[in-house]
Amino acid sequence: MKPHANDKHTDTMNISVFCGASLPHSEQITEAARQLGRAIARGGHTLLYGGSNLGLMGATSGAALQEGGRVVGVIPTFFSEEVILSQPVSQLVRVASMAERKEYLIAHSDAFIALPGGIGTLDEAFEVMVANQLGLSRKPIGLLNTNNFYQPLMQQLQLMEQEGLYRLANADYLVIEEQPDRLLQRLTDFKPDPDRGHVAQRLRHKS
Ligand code: AMP
Repeated sequence: MKPHANDKHTDTMNISVFCGASLPHSEQITEAARQLGRAIARGGHTLLYGGSNLGLMGATSGAALQEGGRVVGVIPTFFSEEVILSQPVSQLVRVASMAERKEYLIAHSDAFIALPGGIGTLDEAFEVMVANQLGLSRKPIGLLNTNNFYQPLMQQLQLMEQEGLYRLANADYLVIEEQPDRLLQRLTDFKPDPDRGHVAQRLRHKS
């Protein structure tokens, strides 16, 4: 059975979590990943993620599973069977490529969370932000700002705005929080601004 992105009549969501396939040096970040996994499970949400038990991916999904949560792993078939089967998830979805994985996660999620991670995490987070910017979707994405990890990225976005290359005002779907519980609550409360969506749609149809 495939998960479906929930409609907004319930407070439980399908949440894609993007995070490092490695463990960071800071134990606070790993602990925040476990806290987030537990909070997602306790909230009755379904956690979707990249499928393996490596690094922060394993910390988050393992904590959610231990708490009795539903976890869906979405993993490309080019990974070895050892990696693919490394985490005993509730549901395993095998896809053909990294691009297909991102497409699947975006289509089947109501909200997204990027924990600290490397370029794979940023690639996934930016895919969501670009889809929102183009009006292709209107789903919130939270950045878990443990140890101010995402502060330099926010500065980069501000620099893009100063150069007229990006509009932070249109990024109302971007939620930044240090506490996993608070981040989850803000994603649950998020209501897309229909006017912003229309502006993005008009821009898209012009080109
Ligand atoms: P990174 O932030 O560069 O460590 O990449 C982590 C992100 O890329 C995760 O959210 C995964 O979706 C994907 N990814 C990278 N490496 C792996 C791996 N060995 N197994 C599964 N997914 C991975």
